[in-house]
Amino acid sequence: MDTSKKPLNIGIIGFGPFSQFLTKTMIKQGHVVRATSRSDYSAHLGANFFRDMEEFMGLEHDVIMICTSILSVSEVVKSIPFHCLKKPTLFADVLSVKEHPRQILLQEVPEDSDVVCTHPMFGPESGKNGWNGLNFMYERVRVRDEDLCSSFLNIFESEGCKMIEMSCEEHDRLAAQSQFVTHTIGRILSEMQITNTAIDTKGFEKLVQVKENTANDSMDLYSGLFIHNRFAKQQMENLESALERVKGSLEARMKKEDGHK
Ligand code: NAP
Repeated sequence: MDTSKKPLNIGIIGFGPFSQFLTKTMIKQGHVVRATSRSDYSAHLGANFFRDMEEFMGLEHDVIMICTSILSVSEVVKSIPFHCLKKPTLFADVLSVKEHPRQILLQEVPEDSDVVCTHPMFGPESGKNGWNGLNFMYERVRVRDEDLCSSFLNIFESEGCKMIEMSCEEHDRLAAQSQFVTHTIGRILSEMQITNTAIDTKGFEKLVQVKENTANDSMDLYSGLFIHNRFAKQQMENLESALERVKGSLEARMKKEDGHK
C-alpha cells in the first residue's frame, strides 16, 4: 500500500486563522483533524476541538502541528504535557520564522518523537484558489520515521505545492529579504492609506495587492517576523537607508536644476 495516501490523525495546537485554513484541505484529503487552542473553538465545524490539553495530548496522534503565533510558541511548547503522549509522534511546526521554533522543538520534544520544521509560503489570501505552484519550505530536523514524515509532506505535495528542502537558517536569511520586506512595504502602504484610483498603472495595482495581502495578517505575526528572525533587523536598516539615498538623490537633482535657472 502507498503509505503516503494513508489518512493521518493530525493534532493541531493553535487553532487560529492559518491552521483553520489548512484544516479545510486536510479534511478534504480524508485526514482526521483534532485541535486545541488558548481560545475556545468548540463551535467550529470540521475539526474536533479539545479545550483540555491533557485530554488532547492523550489522543492517538500521528502528527502534532504547532500553529501558534511566533511570539507565543516558546510559552506554548513549554506548557505541552508531553507525558500524556500515547506513542512517538511527528511534531511539525508551520511558523513563518524557522530557527526559533527549531531550537524550541529540539529542546522540548521528547527524544523518541520526530521533528520537521516547515513553512507553507502562502496564506488564506494567496492560497484561496488552491495551493498548486505555491512554495512549501521544510527541514527534516530529526526524522527517523521517514514514511510518516513523507505522508505528512504529501499533504502539501499532492496539492501541487513546490516542495523546497532547506535549512531553517537559510530560510530565515531569505525570508528576511523577501517576506519581511514585503510585509513591511505592505504595512507602510497601509499607513499611507493607498487605494485604487481611476487611472491605476499595472505597477500600482500590484502595490495595492501587496497592501491587501498583508493587511489581514495579525500584528503578532508581523512582529514575530521581526523579533524572531535575526536577519530582519538588517533588512529594516537597509530599507531605511535605501529610502534616505533615494530621497537624497532627488533632492540633489532638484538643487542642480534650481541652479540652472
Ligand atoms: P497568528 O496571530 O500568528 O497566530 C494565532 C494563533 O496563535 C492562534 O491559534 C492563537 O490562539 C495563538 N496564540 C497567540 N497568542 C497566544 C498565547 N499567548 N498563548 C497561546 N496561544 C496563542 O495568526 P495565524 O495567521 O493563524 O498564524 C499562525 C501561525 O502560522 C504563525 O506562526 C504564522 O507565522 C504561521 N503562518 C501564517 C501564515 C498566514 O498567512 N497567516 C502563513 C504561513 C505560516 P487562539 O486563537 O486560541 O487565541
